[in-house]
Amino acid sequence: MDEFALIRKCFERRRRGKGEILGIGDDAALLAVTPGRELVAAVDTIVAGVHFPRGYPAGDVGYRALAVNLSDLAAMGAEPRFMTLALTHPDGDPRWVEAFAAGLFEAADAFDVALVGGDTTRGSEIVVTVSVLGESGAGEALRRSTASVGDAVYVSGHPGDAAAGLRLIDEPGDPDTQSLVERFRRPLPRVALGRALVSVASACIDLSDGLVADLGHLAAASGAAAELELDRLPLSAAITRRFDDAERLALGGGDDYELCFTVPPPRKARIAAIEAALGLPLTEVGEIVPGEGVRILRSGSATDVDVGGFDHFREIA
Ligand code: ADP
Ligand code: MG
Repeated sequence: MDEFALIRKCFERRRRGKGEILGIGDDAALLAVTPGRELVAAVDTIVAGVHFPRGYPAGDVGYRALAVNLSDLAAMGAEPRFMTLALTHPDGDPRWVEAFAAGLFEAADAFDVALVGGDTTRGSEIVVTVSVLGESGAGEALRRSTASVGDAVYVSGHPGDAAAGLRLIDEPGDPDTQSLVERFRRPLPRVALGRALVSVASACIDLSDGLVADLGHLAAASGAAAELELDRLPLSAAITRRFDDAERLALGGGDDYELCFTVPPPRKARIAAIEAALGLPLTEVGEIVPGEGVRILRSGSATDVDVGGFDHFREIA
C-alpha cells in the first residue's frame, strides 16, 4: 500500500451517515435524498499560503475546511448531510493527515455530516477542497436576493471577534485573548440559526468578508441599499476591552461566519424566541432602504468609517 492509499484509509470510518447507501471505497458514493426535499450544494477550496499560513496547525486546517462550507449551508437555511474531500499534499505526511482528519471530523461530528468520498493527490502546496451537500424543504431555502425595502437587518453573535483573534493569535492568553483567538480558530457555523430562520427571514448571507462587505452583497443582490447603525453593533466585552478600533474590526474584519439576515417588520416579534432557544444574541443593526450600497450611521446621522485595512487571514498568510 503506498502512503497515499494509507492516507485514504485515514478518512474511512465504520459508522455510516444517515442516507449513506454506499460511501468511501467504490468509484462514487450513493446517497439517499429525502423525497420532496431539495439538495443544497456548496464547495470551498483553501490553499496554503493563500487562505491559511504555511505551517498552520493541521487540525485547524481540517476544522476550517468544513466549517466554512457549513456556514454557506447555514446561510441557505439548509440541513447539512454529506461531504466529499479533495486533498492535495506535497508528501502525504501521515502525522499531518492524521491531525487534519481529527480537526475535520471534529466539525463533521458536531454537525452530523458524513464523509462519503474524495480524492487524494500529490502537489507542491497543501490544497483542501471540501464539498458539502445538504437538504432543505422544497422552496424553503433562504437567499441573499430576496430582501425588501423596510426589512430590518440583524446579525448573529459578535462580529469582529474572529478578526480580533487573528491579531492575537501569537500572544500568550489572558481569558479575553483566549476567547477571541478561539473565535478565529474554531468558527461555529450557525446551522441551527439558519434552520430556525426559514419562513422568518426574508434574506440571509454568512459573514466571511466582513459585515459591511457581506451586507453590501445582500443589498446589491436584493436591488436595494442597507443602513447600518454603529450604536447598535453587538461588540463583545472581550473585543472592547482589548481593542480601541473594535468598531472597525466588527465592520470590516472577516472570518466571523455569523449570519446577517433581514426580517420584515411583522415577523420581528419572532426573533426573541429564536434568540432564547439558541442562546445566541441576534441584534437588529439596521434597515434595508432604497438605493445602493451600505450607509453607516451614528445615532441616526450618516458618518464616514474606513472599514478597510484590517488584518485578514488572506493578507497575512
Ligand atoms: P478512483 O481512482 O476510482 O478515483 P481513488 O483511489 O482515488 O479511486 O479512491 C478510492 C476511494 O477512496 C473512493 O471511494 C474515494 O471516494 C475515496 N477517497 C479517496 N481520497 C479520499 C479522501 N481524501 N477523502 C475521502 N475519501 C477519499
Ligand atoms: Mg481518484
